[in-house]
Amino acid sequence: MINAPVRSDTLDLIGNTPLVLLSGPSEAAGCEIWGKCEFANPGASVKDRAALWIIRDAEARGELQPGGTVVEGTAGNTGIGIALVANALGYKTVIVMPDNQSREKMDTLRALGAELVTVPPTKFADPNHFVHTSRRIAEDMENAVWANQFDNVANRRAHIESTAPEIWEQLEGRVDGFTCAAGTGGTISGVGMGLKAMDENVRIALTDPHGAALYSYFATGELKSEGTSVAEGIGQGRITANLEDAPIDTQFRISDEEGLEWVARLLREEGLCLGLSSGINVAGAVALGRQLVAEGRQDARVATILCDTGFRYLSTLYNAEWLASKNLPVFDWLGSS
Ligand code: PMP
Repeated sequence: MINAPVRSDTLDLIGNTPLVLLSGPSEAAGCEIWGKCEFANPGASVKDRAALWIIRDAEARGELQPGGTVVEGTAGNTGIGIALVANALGYKTVIVMPDNQSREKMDTLRALGAELVTVPPTKFADPNHFVHTSRRIAEDMENAVWANQFDNVANRRAHIESTAPEIWEQLEGRVDGFTCAAGTGGTISGVGMGLKAMDENVRIALTDPHGAALYSYFATGELKSEGTSVAEGIGQGRITANLEDAPIDTQFRISDEEGLEWVARLLREEGLCLGLSSGINVAGAVALGRQLVAEGRQDARVATILCDTGFRYLSTLYNAEWLASKNLPVFDWLGSS
C-alpha cells in the first residue's frame, strides 16, 4: 500500500509522524505499546513541534519582525528545531547550551547556521544558568525574541493541537494510556491535556529519570530528586509553566540502565536507533502497560514518544569508552574500546 504524503511547504514536514507498534515492549507488557516516531521530524526530534509553535506564536503576537533573531537556551534539540524553522522563515538563531551536552548536537547547531554560545552546567538558581543567559542575550539584542520553551505555553499547545490528536486518530479513538518523561514538560502536559479532552479515562503517566524531582512531586507533593541520569533533554526540578495543571494520574521512576536496555533492544531487535529519553519512555510505557494488564485490561493500548534519533549520541550512548566512564553497561556489539 502506498501512503506517502505530499507537502507544498517544508514546514508542513513537522508533525504527522508515524506511530509504530513496538513488538518487544508489547510482549514485555502483555498489551499493545505504540511509539510515536518523533525522530522522523526534519530536525530528528520531538522539539521541532515546539519550535514551530513558539515561532508562529511570536509572529502572531507581533514580537518577531522580518529579519529578527530567535534566542533560546536548550539542551540541543529545541535549538536544532528553532534553527531549521527560523531558516525557513528568514530569521536568525542564537542558541545557549550547557557544555556537557553531546558533541553531535553542538556540531549540528553550527552546521545549521545557528550562533552557538556554551556555558558551564549549573543550578537553575544561578544567574549563569543557560536559561537565564539566553534571556539576557535576547533582552540585549534588537529585534530578538526569547523562545523561553520552559515557561512559554505555546510549547505545550503544539502537543495539544498536533501530537495528541494525531495519536488519537492513529489509534482510531481508543487510547488507554500515555506516558513520557519531561524536559520542559510540554510533551507530557500537552499530550495529556489533548488526550484527556478526547477521553478523560486515558491514563496519563509521568515517566521520570533519576535525578529529576517530578516523580516525587506527583507521588507526594514534594519536589525532591534522588540519584542521577545521563539522559539528555529530560529531568526537571521545578514546575514549569508548561507543567502547571498537567493531568498526571500516575508516575514511574526509571533508571538509565533500564532505559539503555530498551535502547539496545529496540536497535538490535527492531532496527530503531534512538536516544536514551526514548528508552526511558519505552520502559515507562511497559510499566504502564503492565499496570493496566494487572487490572484486567489485556487489550490495553499504550502510546509513548520516541523523542530523537540515536545518531545524535554516537560519541556518548553508542561509544564503549563513554559508557564505561559513566559506569553504564556497554552494548555487547560495541566491544570494549
Ligand atoms: N527527549 C529529548 C531528547 C529532548 O530533547 C526533550 C526536550 N527537552 C525531551 C525528551 C522532553 O520533551 P519536553 O521538553 O516536551 O518535556
